[in-house]
Amino acid sequence: MRTAEDYRAALKSKKQKLYANGERVDDVTSHPRYRKVLASHALHYTLAHNPEHSSLLTTKSYLSDKTIYRWSSLTKTMEDVINYARLKRFGYENTGTCVSATCVGFCAFNSLWHATWKMDRELGTNYHERLKNYILTAEAEGYMIAGGLTDAKGNRRLKASEQAEKDTFIRIVDRKPDGIVVRGIKCMVAGAVAADEIFIMPGAGYREDEKEYAVACVIPRNIEGLTMIENRRVNDVRDLEDGWDNPVPYANNAAYLILDNVYVPNERVFMAGEAKYSMDFISYYTANYRSTQGGCVAGQGSIMVGAAVNIARANGLSSNVMRDKLMQMVLNNETTWSMGIGAIAMGKLLPSGVWMSDPLLAHSTKVQIATLPYETKRLCQEVAGGIGETGCFPSSRDFPMMEKYFAAGSTGRARARTARLIEWLTVGSGIPGCLHGGGSPDGARLVMRGSYPFESFAKKAAELAGVTDEIAEPPKK
Ligand SMILES: Cc1cc2nc3c(=O)[nH]c(=O)nc-3n(C[C@H](O)[C@H](O)[C@H](O)COP(=O)(O)OP(=O)(O)OC[C@H]3O[C@@H](n4cnc5c(N)ncnc54)[C@H](O)[C@@H]3O)c2cc1C
Repeated sequence: MRTAEDYRAALKSKKQKLYANGERVDDVTSHPRYRKVLASHALHYTLAHNPEHSSLLTTKSYLSDKTIYRWSSLTKTMEDVINYARLKRFGYENTGTCVSATCVGFCAFNSLWHATWKMDRELGTNYHERLKNYILTAEAEGYMIAGGLTDAKGNRRLKASEQAEKDTFIRIVDRKPDGIVVRGIKCMVAGAVAADEIFIMPGAGYREDEKEYAVACVIPRNIEGLTMIENRRVNDVRDLEDGWDNPVPYANNAAYLILDNVYVPNERVFMAGEAKYSMDFISYYTANYRSTQGGCVAGQGSIMVGAAVNIARANGLSSNVMRDKLMQMVLNNETTWSMGIGAIAMGKLLPSGVWMSDPLLAHSTKVQIATLPYETKRLCQEVAGGIGETGCFPSSRDFPMMEKYFAAGSTGRARARTARLIEWLTVGSGIPGCLHGGGSPDGARLVMRGSYPFESFAKKAAELAGVTDEIAEPPKK
């Protein structure tokens, strides 16, 4: 199986077109901006070879029977999806933040598994076979795969086809006998700069009159016509600092992907205009992505709990003094975790053979994910005191002048490092996107509203209360 060194060598050999902060970057493996995101992915390869973690990070392929990395496996059973959630939590607990290319592409091809299966049965296409072949390659190569769903979307009140600038959404602009040509932009694609491959997927369900937007394919990082523009990191300057100002050796990272007439050969295309199935894809994708996301934020929350215990002690207090706050943090973490696991457990096996989480519970998880971790961050800062908040503590270079003043329950240095970690976790670039990442909470609420049996429970409540008169919805104005 691929090693961390093989992974780095592969990225080095696939020269992408990437810009960051006004600079063209040819080699992500040697540029300081990318050392943390690469380290994060590389850690997964390394830990997969450690007997303590290999049962989570590797699995047996359903397709080849060989041992493969979990992030390129099919999730055919409830246990597989629970292990996907555990993988996400593990990633956060070991790196402090999001390890996106072990996640979004993984969820994408599992969701496409079902959509392509349906298309082949109902339309006579051969997308499913193509996808199976691609997954076999991805498994054998041990790829890191990012996933782009989010289009720039333009004016939110208008449909894709109504936008003044057509390229705000990815679409098919040409069809050739052996492939398609796509153009447009995908936004905030996490892990893309350090991924081997990127899935491009429909970001919404499309109708027949917008079928050219219903496109799913996978592209290598160095494909002709792809330009990546890396995000401006939350804490750009600090991320390039040395010493304990830059406390964690890992980071997440996102990029905007401009596809300028990118030619994608048929064997890498899994949907090309079958509008009806774009909604199917979105439904499967969001159900599994959002249920397992309960694990991400819980994993980062665990590190915040640990940091809060340490800073309380470093400040000279017993962590017991902070027990109510710590317990609330634990409760927040384990709420999203258990909601997500519940959504998986209440899911079902789809006829194509992959497991799908229960949508109502998965979307409920997403709404809580958009709320509870922010409370956890606030509590972590509250325990820390002002030195854990951004801007209130000097750099490690100047710190020696004041070190003796800051020794308390620990050395001044241990206290300062812990404070910097809390800053990184709560307001720095260690922040994962749990509000809009994985989709906005209002979108999740919309699905919940559509799937919750309000009328049936209204009827039941009326029966229990012995109400025999009609209680009707007032007529629309
Ligand atoms: C850290 C992070 C990582 C991410 N990783 C990825 C990734 O790997 N791949 C990927 O594809 N995407 C990724 N995303 C993008 C994410 O999926 C989007 O941010 C999310 O779907 C919301 O889309 P948006 O940002 O365009 O916001 P918008 O859609 O503009 O939403 C902003 C607000 O407006 C509301 N709104 C939008 N349209 C309407 C409307 N028509 N009517 C009423 N209200 C509306 C929304 O509910 C929301 O409250 C990531 C985001 C973050 C923050």
